[in-house]
Amino acid sequence: MIEIKSKRWLAAGIFGLMASSAVATYVFMTGPFGGPETGELVLNQKDVVAVETTTDAAFAETILSAEQRYPYTISPRSSLVTELRKLDISPRDIHDLVAAAKPIRNLGRLTAGTRFQVGFSGTNSEVFTSLRIRLSPRDVLAIERKTDGAWLAEAVQKKVDTKVLTFKGNVKSSLWESAVEAEMNPALIAELAEIFAWQVDFAREVRVGDQWRLSVEEESVQGEKLGSGSILSAEYTNAGETHTAVLFRRGEEDLGYFGPDGTSLKRVFLKSPIQYGRISSRFQKRRLHPILKTVRPHNGVDYAAPTGTPIRVVGDGQVEAVGRNGGAGNFIKIRHNSTYATSYKHLSRFAKNVRRGSRVQQGQTIGYVGSTGMSSGPHLHFEFYVNGRYVDPLGMKFPAAAPVPREQLAEFVETKNVFLAYLPDWEI
Ligand SMILES: [Zn+2]
Repeated sequence: MIEIKSKRWLAAGIFGLMASSAVATYVFMTGPFGGPETGELVLNQKDVVAVETTTDAAFAETILSAEQRYPYTISPRSSLVTELRKLDISPRDIHDLVAAAKPIRNLGRLTAGTRFQVGFSGTNSEVFTSLRIRLSPRDVLAIERKTDGAWLAEAVQKKVDTKVLTFKGNVKSSLWESAVEAEMNPALIAELAEIFAWQVDFAREVRVGDQWRLSVEEESVQGEKLGSGSILSAEYTNAGETHTAVLFRRGEEDLGYFGPDGTSLKRVFLKSPIQYGRISSRFQKRRLHPILKTVRPHNGVDYAAPTGTPIRVVGDGQVEAVGRNGGAGNFIKIRHNSTYATSYKHLSRFAKNVRRGSRVQQGQTIGYVGSTGMSSGPHLHFEFYVNGRYVDPLGMKFPAAAPVPREQLAEFVETKNVFLAYLPDWEI
């Protein structure tokens, strides 16, 4: 019994020390490909990288697992009160604890599985003096007996350690495989693909020999991970062309990825594929078809315009299909990235050099308005797909693609230099 109590005391003692950490040190390491490094760093950006504290006491704490630090658990169908009774805590103390904690947490409502720690003092560890309840890896409810005997409850938020990890890979079979081989959480490769979605079509353009590297923050509390943090910087080399991304907060809330020159990696679409057209029919679930005279969904937007009016592709992409197809007449389908595609129907003719597989740039003329296929007069039928499903292009809210504002450029350059320096060497 005494031995158990001394263990409890040990846990409480380390916890006590831990609360006094204060040194602001930015710790980062170069992941599985290099040794750990430590440096001091001042960043202007709040929240992008948490500047964290590490002390010997905090380090000592990491040696113990959560199970060791909080040796007791509320059993299924039990309660904290029942568990405390099992530990011979007096009904009087339990009553006072519950009352003290009440403004912060109802101790009667803690769920099964919640871990806690009890502390004792006195020559034979006979005086019950503290209860610490682990509400989450980060949040602890600490209740201490003061010298006058009264209990004082306090919500404690533990320090979060932020590390920067780096990974890199070579595509040998698939992007996913390259992440697995790099011993990286494959969810991060999906994030990387999202960052470069406008530069690389990851559904179609990934090539053997492509390379990627990234730095990512990892938050933890006493060695316990708090889920995956944000990618800070990344590069992807696709067919010999390298794309670079840096995480930066533009304005107050607007966190996004930018190229080294401060341009956004996101692209907006042109509002309309016709420069001076008139919308003659909108996207509708039910529409009386002008020729068939039946009610059918209208999966696009019609722009009435004279035959021969140039049609502009609304975003960069690749020609997925071009040809003639029954009701659509002459049509072109453009894939913009793995998420977005558009199609253009009833064309009178196609622009030169528009062939299956050819690359097109936003604003480029790809064809001309006509009335081929099932059409009652010259117009462009324009469709927009998100993940293969029709959406109303007029109802879409596309992300702003504004660059880093002038007044933030200096700050951006500073961030960029730090984040890009994290990237590991390409050689594996
Ligand atoms: Zn239409």
